[in-house]
Amino acid sequence: MASDDRTSVAVVGSTGSIGTQTLDVIAADPDRYRIDSLAAGRSLDLLVEQTNVVRPSFVAIGDASLESALREAVPAGTEVASGEEGLAECARRADVTVNGVVGFAGLPVTLASLEAGKRLALANKESLISAGPVVQAARRTPGAEIVPVDSEHAAIHQCLRANDVGKRVNRIQVTASGGPFRGRSADQLKSVTIEEALAHPTWAMGPKITIDSSTLMNKGLEVIEANELFGSPAGDLGYGLSLNDIEVVVHPQSIVHSMVTYSDGSTIAQLSMPDMRLPIGYALAFPDRFPVAYGPIDWATIGRLDFEAPDMEAFPCLALAYQAAGMGGTAPAWLSAANEIAVEAFLKGELAWADISGINAATLEKHDGGTGTTLESVLEGDRQARHYATELLRRAPS
Ligand code: MN
Repeated sequence: MASDDRTSVAVVGSTGSIGTQTLDVIAADPDRYRIDSLAAGRSLDLLVEQTNVVRPSFVAIGDASLESALREAVPAGTEVASGEEGLAECARRADVTVNGVVGFAGLPVTLASLEAGKRLALANKESLISAGPVVQAARRTPGAEIVPVDSEHAAIHQCLRANDVGKRVNRIQVTASGGPFRGRSADQLKSVTIEEALAHPTWAMGPKITIDSSTLMNKGLEVIEANELFGSPAGDLGYGLSLNDIEVVVHPQSIVHSMVTYSDGSTIAQLSMPDMRLPIGYALAFPDRFPVAYGPIDWATIGRLDFEAPDMEAFPCLALAYQAAGMGGTAPAWLSAANEIAVEAFLKGELAWADISGINAATLEKHDGGTGTTLESVLEGDRQARHYATELLRRAPS
């Protein structure tokens, strides 16, 4: 049996794509890591199953109406909690929190981890995008640290380590697979189906992010995420980069996960086969390296790597993200909230794929100039944006 000085890990969003892969990664190095807590939104059966296998000390479910059913099903002695506070408590207890919650609902977990001065292995990009200024303040808590799990940002994090002088960074290139509709014109994109949009060419992920990949909204959100993580808003954590120093490069093979270009013209890239277990292991082990290889490249069979510029006209969501990031304040929160509403409607068959960007654009136009420096103003902005987006949906032709 492994000793008790292992790193304790909270896996929040444990039943989703990132969560299940995190359990897989931790099981590969049981001498170094132990799972202190598991939490899910509402997938009760899988959470119970995971709890019976992993035996965490603490387990939480977002949907409070499922708390008593959870309590009855888990081993005696397991602490049980629910709601937003239950999820946040997971993050306060552990040395490292893997935040794999989907959407804005991940914000309390992000803040709880950072405010407790812990390491946040961040897969939930929406919390950073929607609450930039609030998260930046929490990030200054002594001991607090974000190590990105998003594969592009994990790549950038690694590329930046190639520079031990901590400056001289000129540009960041965020790579994009281009999604299932790469190369199609706006006209050809008018009648795509849910099945086509869910068929991602290189990554197997949850439905929300897969749709975001098909519209390039995901890449747009990742530009905002990169700006928050590595750009000027982070102050002394940043490299003096501005939004326009972050560019998107379409790379259909998804092997180059992102790049950093230095002042002398050198570009450093991070390459591996698409496998999210690599960035998860990276975020757990940093500054060490995880001992098990996920997605190593077979160079004899890899073939070619292609690169091209993104088509901002066929994929207007990417341009909207730059626009929102330039507006600052709660504008990214508005865009992200509108997008959550639009994607949910598309997945229910209530909105055409091509109209997702229209809902996002029209909601962003309503932005009230909110600065988002307090949690209350972020929550209010999110609420207002959801309200507008829902109103627009009601009027949209389906
Ligand atoms: Mn990504």
